[in-house]
Amino acid sequence: MVSRLKPCVSIAFDEKQLEEVVSKAKDWALMHGACMRSKTQFNSDALQFAPFVLIPSTFPRKQFEKAIYLQPIVNELIHAVANNHEFLKRSLAVTITVDPFTAELYNIYETVRSENSSQPIALGLLRSDVMLSDVIPGAQSSIPLSQKYQQRQVEVNTIAAGFGWLGPASGHLHRIVMEELSHGDKVTQMPENRALENLAGGMLKAWELYNRANAAILFVIEEVTYNICDQRFHEFEIRRQNPNVRVIRRNLTELGRGAAQLGPNKELIVDGSEIAVVYFRCGYSPDQYPSTDRCEWNARLLIERSKAIKCPNIAYHLAGTKKIQQTLAQPGVVEEILKDEDKARALRECFTGLYSLDLNDEGDRASEMAIQDPERFVLKPQREGGGNNVYGLEVKTTIERLRDSHERAAYILMDVIKPPLLRNWMIRPGSEPVLEDTISELGIFGVILGNSKEIFYNSVGGHMLRTKLHTANEGGVAAGLGALDSPFLV
Ligand code: ADP
Ligand code: MG
Ligand code: MG
Repeated sequence: MVSRLKPCVSIAFDEKQLEEVVSKAKDWALMHGACMRSKTQFNSDALQFAPFVLIPSTFPRKQFEKAIYLQPIVNELIHAVANNHEFLKRSLAVTITVDPFTAELYNIYETVRSENSSQPIALGLLRSDVMLSDVIPGAQSSIPLSQKYQQRQVEVNTIAAGFGWLGPASGHLHRIVMEELSHGDKVTQMPENRALENLAGGMLKAWELYNRANAAILFVIEEVTYNICDQRFHEFEIRRQNPNVRVIRRNLTELGRGAAQLGPNKELIVDGSEIAVVYFRCGYSPDQYPSTDRCEWNARLLIERSKAIKCPNIAYHLAGTKKIQQTLAQPGVVEEILKDEDKARALRECFTGLYSLDLNDEGDRASEMAIQDPERFVLKPQREGGGNNVYGLEVKTTIERLRDSHERAAYILMDVIKPPLLRNWMIRPGSEPVLEDTISELGIFGVILGNSKEIFYNSVGGHMLRTKLHTANEGGVAAGLGALDSPFLV
């Protein structure tokens, strides 16, 4: 660990300025909606600023540009997977026998497929997450940052990929901080970020394709939305771009208890309004389907059956599972799906080791490897939203517990990525600034719209950077471990 320690806030400043600039930055965040609702002191009428790091983290320009370059290929790959029934079926065959949540999703997929889906078009608002990894582990500090690191893909999110607002907001915040610290000349090293415009624009493109002037956009939301600013800014941006389009917010329970109905031509009708586009910010986790009468699952099925354009549809949702990611990393698979050697090679360069834990020789070998050296791996179930993975010694104990159990196949194994450490000031609500050693994860948004035959639109959407303590396994901002950040390109 110590060899990775590189105290390096990207911007030098006199610490006497700290108190004043932190206070100003906090106020800016509060006044511009770089905020969330508090999980510990919940009050639906109050906001707290989201934790942030004071200084934008350095990030190698070459790797940033590469991630941007790759995003349309990632989009294309996910689209191709989602439209490949044989591949989804084959890849998830074992998983759905051991993981009830994935099985529920898969059943909806097959049910709607057998009924001839009424909406062939899908909208993907994706986010591909990467971390930097040493190309030469422990390389000399004299090697420039731009050459020392390669990016490794953590995952691709196909449902409820957040930070389309908080990403750009962090960039605005950091520009203010840089100016305050007399480094305004360097803001040119902070890339433009139009995530909000592009994501809202993607929804509006889908709305236009649906082609009904009075139809609304439905945001499917959690029972309690902590990340409220991020969501609401998407809503306000939709109105800004097209004042005629209304956004309705409902949770799955409400939708399943009568708010959602199908019209005579499978129109999705929510409390009297026809819905053109459904944007899921919820529905990726079993606890978001709590009712014993399965009303949330009924709502999900009803939406899937409808002719509204889904973001994501159930096939896109399945395409984002960890099992699909692991399957794609096997030799020849990305190549088979993309049918383009150059694109496949470029993507594959960013993969890290991913291993199946199915109950066969391959899974046994991977299990043995993880038991021998658990710190080298992350164990992942088919879940989203953070806080579900297993790290360190627990990798060993979990795999040992699952030895010879079918349940083992519900997980995949992944090499741990070790990003460089950067020292930065962590600013949290109600706390003094603390200088911490941090690591970052870059997310690139992608927007894709198409059907099984044609892609109408495929583009990069913008970016977000999240930074966490180097000791934290995961960096959820709402969970209080992660902090907003933005890249400072070098
Ligand atoms: P989720 O879908 O729940 O976000 P992720 O695969 O993104 O699941 O894992 C959550 C977090 O765990 C990531 O944001 C990252 O901080 C950490 N993580 C996941 N995979 C790795 C890995 N291979 N190496 C290092 N950290 C990882
Ligand atoms: Mg995810
Ligand atoms: Mg993630």
